[in-house]
Amino acid sequence: MTGIVSNRASTIIPSITLSLNTKANALKEAGEDVVGLAAGEPDFETPDIIKAAGIRAIEEGKTRYTPAAGIAQLRKAVSKEYSKLLGVEYGWKEVVISHGAKHSIFNALYVFTDLDDEVMITTPYWVSYPEMIKLVGARPRITELSEKTGYKLTVDHLKAQVEKGKPKVLLLNSPNNPAGIVYTPKEMEGIGRFLLDEGIALISDEIYEFLVYGDTEHISPVKLIPELKDQTAVVTGVSKSYAMTGWRIGFALAEENAAFRMGAYQAHATGCPNAISQWAALEAIEKGQDDRERMRAEFEKRKEMFGQRLSKIPGIKFPDPGGAFYFLTDVSGYFNACGVKGSSEFCEKLLSEKGLLLIPGGPFGCDNMIRFSFAASVDQLNMALDRFESFISDYS
Ligand code: PMP
Ligand code: GLU
Repeated sequence: MTGIVSNRASTIIPSITLSLNTKANALKEAGEDVVGLAAGEPDFETPDIIKAAGIRAIEEGKTRYTPAAGIAQLRKAVSKEYSKLLGVEYGWKEVVISHGAKHSIFNALYVFTDLDDEVMITTPYWVSYPEMIKLVGARPRITELSEKTGYKLTVDHLKAQVEKGKPKVLLLNSPNNPAGIVYTPKEMEGIGRFLLDEGIALISDEIYEFLVYGDTEHISPVKLIPELKDQTAVVTGVSKSYAMTGWRIGFALAEENAAFRMGAYQAHATGCPNAISQWAALEAIEKGQDDRERMRAEFEKRKEMFGQRLSKIPGIKFPDPGGAFYFLTDVSGYFNACGVKGSSEFCEKLLSEKGLLLIPGGPFGCDNMIRFSFAASVDQLNMALDRFESFISDYS
């Protein structure tokens, strides 16, 4: 214990993605010449029809507490839409609305684990996973993946891990942050089938479900294996697909008892999600498809442009992102020349010498890599690449 702070709380570290994003914005506001590709959020405005629904909710006085698990209208709309999408029936009581997908993952971890249970995650993992797992009193079991399998978990790998000891939960994210990798339906089905046979619970983080490019398709494990429903929480939300990050609405779909417990936990921990945002999210789910597709198509163009330029830089390797809006890039070949020991020092040098702010891979479990977000305008992306190329050529 340090002063009044408990041992448990003393181990929590801030989120690198949120803090570097804040830093990039502060530097820009202070008039510094900084280009930041740190943000893991769409740069688009929330679509007008969704904003209008939020304004309407305020004008109509829909500003009081709602049921802890969300307004029935939104739970019913999610249930209708996702039962179609997932090909599995989810009743409206099997939907829990929360303060963003981050909160939904936390709730699912809380409901699926007991103290000291293991939750398997794979590298590169989203930065918040290990911390969230520790916060609920469970233990992260980090499985290292490499370029050899395209940073994907294979059934063989999973089997070998389970032989050493069975985790209670697998927390899997496809399309993935930070690498943009997307499991093929065949790969996902193999994993799902194994989890079903072994009775391992699944938290399937599908927050980037609609942001896929080219021939890539995202298919939920629950759609591939409907029997998985009873041991799975599918987590998603409106943040990324509808440019609604600050509205803070996510949701989990799970069988009724698990959903009930998530709602009960939420009732005591945070209370209902923001009432106004819930009405705006309802509009997004019911009428936001055209805007969603417009933004996805724009991300796809940026991805092509960015990938083409990045691939021409000597010694830079990256998996082609089939989804989400990130390039995770191996820059370790330049560490010696730059005189740095890892991704954090590399990013610090890049910021101080070229005014380019990127996210180091270390906190995602891959210290050889750095993350570029392509959720920025084409001008910003080109400026970032100019600076990156210049930095690399200084040390080539
Ligand atoms: N999962 C992943 C993989 C993410 O990148 C994010 C982004 N913040 C989230 C969950 C959480 O999304 P939200 O903003 O809805 O909490
Ligand atoms: N998920 C985004 C990212 O990885 C947003 C920031 C966060 O919530 O961590 O950058």
